Amino acid sequence: MAPGAEPERTCVGCREKAGKRGLLRVVRSPGVVRVDAGGKAPGRGAYVHRDTSCLEAALRRGALARALRTGLGPDEAARLRIAIEREVVK
Ligand SMILES: [Zn+2]
Repeated sequence: MAPGAEPERTCVGCREKAGKRGLLRVVRSPGVVRVDAGGKAPGRGAYVHRDTSCLEAALRRGALARALRTGLGPDEAARLRIAIEREVVK
């Protein structure tokens, strides 16, 4: 990778690659899945576009849970959706 190049990550919603700045990181820390607004939290991360259609796809297809290698219960998925939507509209 060239110096200064922005690292690319794959959106779990649409499967397209994008620079990290256009994506929102979700991280699985011990016991909790949450939005990593700073993009630097330790733990297994997954990326999704700052776009509600990508978020919907990631949750509906179970792609987000799979990328994080965890199960997402309905309550946790709902809580996460609210947290992500809050970031998306910012
Ligand atoms: Zn996407």
